[in-house]
Amino acid sequence: MNYTIGIDIGSTTSKCVVLKEGRELIAKSLVQAGTGTDGPKKAYEEVLKSANIQVKEIAYTMATGYGRTTFEAMNGEMSELSCHAKGVFFMNPAIRTIVDIGGQDAKVIQLSEKGTISNFMMNDKCAAGTGRFLDVMAQILQLKVSELEDYAKKSTSPVKISSTCTVFAESEVISQLSKGVALTDLIAGICNSVASRVAALAKRVGVIEDVCMSGGVAQNGGVRMALARELSTNICYVEDAQYMGALGAAIAAYERYTS
Ligand code: ADP
Repeated sequence: MNYTIGIDIGSTTSKCVVLKEGRELIAKSLVQAGTGTDGPKKAYEEVLKSANIQVKEIAYTMATGYGRTTFEAMNGEMSELSCHAKGVFFMNPAIRTIVDIGGQDAKVIQLSEKGTISNFMMNDKCAAGTGRFLDVMAQILQLKVSELEDYAKKSTSPVKISSTCTVFAESEVISQLSKGVALTDLIAGICNSVASRVAALAKRVGVIEDVCMSGGVAQNGGVRMALARELSTNICYVEDAQYMGALGAAIAAYERYTS
């Protein structure tokens, strides 16, 4: 039996996936701690436990993500762009544009019909337009990031957040809160702000349908809705969006092992 592992070591989280024969996802794990912590090791141990297999049964472990070069148990490493492309194409081969928003960066990847990368762009310089922006705002509002979606969806009149910098936007949100603006409208404005920055990046890459989101922020329906509006397109929902990098790495591990 060929088991391969993909591990995606991000800035905020560590994700692992076990694949059987390069096509059957048998276990996954996520630890809320990324590069520079024991999160990758924990995620690796958890996934082995949940798959009920031992390290010696793993044919190949491929690491990806921001901290991919730091993982000792890996056999090889691959870029996040390639892994997200592989993971998403495996889940849905109709996808031509991936908008991947993680904890610290955002990437837009254009795929060919064969699933190869035909164009891409990345923002890793500024927290606005990344999960970090949402995490900071959720903290100010004393909410979990997973709760933002419900508020955003109930908004009738989203607030416009005009600051382009996360630090200034933080002050803006606090000032809006003290004015008594509805939380629903404030949170919708926060989601819109992330979506509009990423949409600008996507337009530079060129948006070809079908479009999907990957990365942790894909779980935020408020951002998904806002992005769909900004790009005038439907955003396909990919199950396990936060695991696409790890899934792609496990596929790449299988390809490398069997080549
Ligand atoms: P990285 O790989 O850079 O660590 P991820 O792709 O794991 O990042 O995404 C992390 C981001 O996903 C967080 O910053 C957070 O904003 C968002 N996120 C994580 N879990 C959820 C959730 N349940 N609902 C909404 N957003 C989430």
